[in-house]
Amino acid sequence: MLASQHINSDNRHRMVGASRIPPQSGTAFLLQKGQILRVTDPMGEQVSDLFALDANNHASYLSSGRTIDYASKYLLSVGDTLYSNDSEEMLTIVSDTVKRHDFTLTPCSQRMFEKLYNWKGHHPSCFENLSNALGVHGVSPERIQSTFNIFMNVSFDEHGGVAVNCPLSKAGDFIELRAERDLLCGLTACSAEGSNNGTLKPIDFQIFSDELAALK
Ligand SMILES: [Zn+2]
Repeated sequence: MLASQHINSDNRHRMVGASRIPPQSGTAFLLQKGQILRVTDPMGEQVSDLFALDANNHASYLSSGRTIDYASKYLLSVGDTLYSNDSEEMLTIVSDTVKRHDFTLTPCSQRMFEKLYNWKGHHPSCFENLSNALGVHGVSPERIQSTFNIFMNVSFDEHGGVAVNCPLSKAGDFIELRAERDLLCGLTACSAEGSNNGTLKPIDFQIFSDELAALK
């Protein structure tokens, strides 16, 4: 479990683990029911893609379509729950200093860079990084669907147009999500120049034992 690289032994804070995801990379970790995942943008204007599966049943995984349907909105923030493809509660947003995230687009991928930007040669991508990190836990790449794209600023206009804009997150901004089941999570520092105002930066994350611990 990569999140345990820097175990905090101070029980008063009950922080289970913390880690920094280097630019254009990703990681995977277990998040137990009731634990809080805090994802922080340490430098500002950096997107982080989150995917999650039931730790005990990989056929149950995060679903953009179910979540947007049940929330009746596509801009999700505090109090909103992210659902699985089989309509089970997976994660609930409990704190959010940015209030602008995307849950409509798929993670950036090699093919996306080729099709949208005519990219030649290998380009790091969230899809590749999630595939590699989750693959260690037996998750096949085709299982990875639309990610919850933390800090990603996507807008829709009255003509149906979709635009990817500069993230609104400033240095130190964060979101916290509570696990409603035991989850296997994949998390990235997004690799797409166009989603991150042209510069590729790290992402920090912490895991707390419960909501009260996260508040301290
Ligand atoms: Zn990405």
